[in-house]
Amino acid sequence: MKYFAYKDNALFCEDLPVSEIAKKVGTPVYVYSYRALKETFDRFSAAFGGTDHLICFSMKANSNGAVLRTFVKAGGGIDVVTGGELERAMAAGCDPKKIVFSGVGKSSEEIKTALVAGILQFNVESEEELENISRIASDLGKKAPVAIRVNPDVDPKTHASISTGLKSSKFGICHDNAVEIYARAAKMRGIEIVGIDCHIGSQITRVEPFVEAVRKARVLMEKIKKRGIALKNLDIGGGLGIVYKDETPPTAEEYASAVKKEIAGLDCKLILEPGRFLAGNAGVLVTQVLYNKEREAKKFVIVDAASNDLMRPALYDAFHKIEPLHVEAGREKVHVDVVGPICETGDFFAKERPLQTMLPGECLAIMGAGAYGFSMSSNYNSRPRPAEVMVNGRDSFVVRERETVKDVVKGEKVPGFLK
Ligand SMILES: *Cc1c(COP(=O)(O)O)cnc(C)c1O
Repeated sequence: MKYFAYKDNALFCEDLPVSEIAKKVGTPVYVYSYRALKETFDRFSAAFGGTDHLICFSMKANSNGAVLRTFVKAGGGIDVVTGGELERAMAAGCDPKKIVFSGVGKSSEEIKTALVAGILQFNVESEEELENISRIASDLGKKAPVAIRVNPDVDPKTHASISTGLKSSKFGICHDNAVEIYARAAKMRGIEIVGIDCHIGSQITRVEPFVEAVRKARVLMEKIKKRGIALKNLDIGGGLGIVYKDETPPTAEEYASAVKKEIAGLDCKLILEPGRFLAGNAGVLVTQVLYNKEREAKKFVIVDAASNDLMRPALYDAFHKIEPLHVEAGREKVHVDVVGPICETGDFFAKERPLQTMLPGECLAIMGAGAYGFSMSSNYNSRPRPAEVMVNGRDSFVVRERETVKDVVKGEKVPGFLK
């Protein structure tokens, strides 16, 4: 995490001590580095130089408008999975012609909104969805641009709940029936076939599963072409992993060169949907130590962030590095569990982690929290969600205010008989 580094024992985000943000905005707070986001995007895009491509940031990883704008201004598009994301993508200035709409359960209303907006492509996941999109498009006198998500049956060798390309998963259509379904779709009145799509999972740390998926997609494309159906776009999804601990994922260049080799000679536009890779290591969650507690041989550090703010450890047993905002050279190192205030045993950020002794009021940064952090947060325990701050150089900007309890109860009503 190049833009989160120590200078004289103080953790900086770019040119700003992170502690200044904690002081000004309070904790817990998400901090994103603009330069990290921008440079990762530019480097990823440059790696695909010479190939007609579009990078559609998978906004479920981080849906903050300032983050979206960073990618949009850099020339990116956006991968959305709901009507809400579509609205936020357009509010962030994204050209609908650069928006792809993924997801197994698009409602008729969402489909209609996307058709009216004029998006680049629907990534369709079932025959029933195809028929529904065709019907809605015909009613509007339109043709819906469609790619079908084909499940390549590739094992991405990642966490089970983020593997999406196996035969047994709910995503996509089966590889074996794909040609037949394409043939049927091509005859539907409201459908214009524009491409093929696959996405095999997340936090993938080797190139082989991607290579295998692209290879299978290419074989299918040839078969579909033989049926007289032209495909303009090849969407290979997202899923490229990042370093949380000691993983050795492919670099942008390694990933791109492996993909480019597989698609050499194919006359189509490559669409990519990275989420985690672009945002994950561009953000941290800053939290303050409330208490230390010792039970039997176990030591706990209780902090003011909780699993509702960053769910990945509770949800996937995910590892996040945890760093003090100030390294105190003389302090003893202890093995601790870092836990939040929520009434759940799953409310933890680290277990048996070596950490310098922390005093109440001092702050920690939970690293690698830029993707699937705030976007997965909730109000469990009536906790207002954290503020989000973007740093650019020495300047910091609140890009989402901290919620208040008023926000949490917004929309609640008391029925008359309880008044
Ligand atoms: C989640 C998702 C992505 C992004 O995955 P990352 O692992 O964050 O890159 C891309 N495409 C689809 C269809 C997804 O569901």
